[in-house]
Amino acid sequence: MESSPMITVSRGRLGPTAARVFEEIRGGVALTRDEIVAGTGLSVATVGRTVGQLVSARILRERPDLATVGRNGRPGTPVEPDPTAYVVVGVHLGRRITTVALADLTGRVVAQQTAEHPPAAGPDLDEISRLAAELLGSLPGRSPLSLGLVAPWGELDLDPARVAAELHELTGLDVRYADHIAAVAATEFLNRRRGTGGVTLYVYARDTLGFAVAVDKGAQTEVSRVGSLTHFPTGSGAACPCGRTGCLQVTAGDEALARTAYDAGLVAEPEIESVHRAQEDPRVLALVRERATVLGQAVGQVRDMIAPDRVVLVGQAFTGWPPVLVDVVAAAERFAPAGAVPISFTRFGAGIQAAAASTIGLGRIYDDPLAAVPTLTRSARATRPAATARRVS
Ligand SMILES: [Zn+2]
Repeated sequence: MESSPMITVSRGRLGPTAARVFEEIRGGVALTRDEIVAGTGLSVATVGRTVGQLVSARILRERPDLATVGRNGRPGTPVEPDPTAYVVVGVHLGRRITTVALADLTGRVVAQQTAEHPPAAGPDLDEISRLAAELLGSLPGRSPLSLGLVAPWGELDLDPARVAAELHELTGLDVRYADHIAAVAATEFLNRRRGTGGVTLYVYARDTLGFAVAVDKGAQTEVSRVGSLTHFPTGSGAACPCGRTGCLQVTAGDEALARTAYDAGLVAEPEIESVHRAQEDPRVLALVRERATVLGQAVGQVRDMIAPDRVVLVGQAFTGWPPVLVDVVAAAERFAPAGAVPISFTRFGAGIQAAAASTIGLGRIYDDPLAAVPTLTRSARATRPAATARRVS
């Protein structure tokens, strides 16, 4: 069990050789050994030996069909992450929705299920391991290597170490856990890869609101400095359970928006899904636009405090409402007319929870791919987690 208050998203020169090779290639594009040599700075012999080990371990696979003539005239057979041998399990606990997912070694989610529960009820871990076993059963032949567990722990008032220990008991898998916002930021960072030098500020908004910062230190990149924006003051009149008024979550979180629309008689239930369905209604769109302005102002203020090189906005409170993204940016710019710090939005939409949990599960493979998978001699021991997980159902 490992906690990740700080998530290492890019290991650069500091990882073991196999981690450096895999980092070069984990984006999913097939590369030749020459290209890996060029990208990592490792020697031809080291790359050749390490790629051989990773292919034997079924982390990478050869793609002779994509072979081209290399720069030195030798034909190069590209290799890519093998999507057929292993998966990681991702478990995301939300305030209302639990997501269980399987992802391949590039972080691509290949199967997922969600279960809804009342906000007051805790996560049903038996149900979670049953869903995981069901998903594994739908992808025969793939062994799970680890489980990533992600939640807004503070918001849910849960002890991550305890939940992780229980899930380890139930599934037999190595469990890593991380804070929701940091995991979302790490996932977004890993999927950008290019143009992410310096400091990237991620602001997340949905039911929960917060930010995280990815700092490129040259040798490695970490996502850290996670901050909650739950009680960030907006000046609104909304009463917060903390005793104050105007906190960001009760003003501009998804639940607040749904409640406002419901109280105004615009939707039949106080649910964000209902607000989505009613967004053609100009009165609903006006509420969404108002919320976008509040979020944009908060983004502008946080940007002023952190002084990053770029800002990336993630979470469905942004990505779920393309028509008002322009309002978010306008409000942020009005508040902090820096202009030079670009604001962009994630490509991740509704799938971000599954992807974030899977990213945390992949940390074990990214740290040391050869140590994370069963070798031939250890294969009996390493296939047991799958069997254990299945037995639960
Ligand atoms: Zn508050």
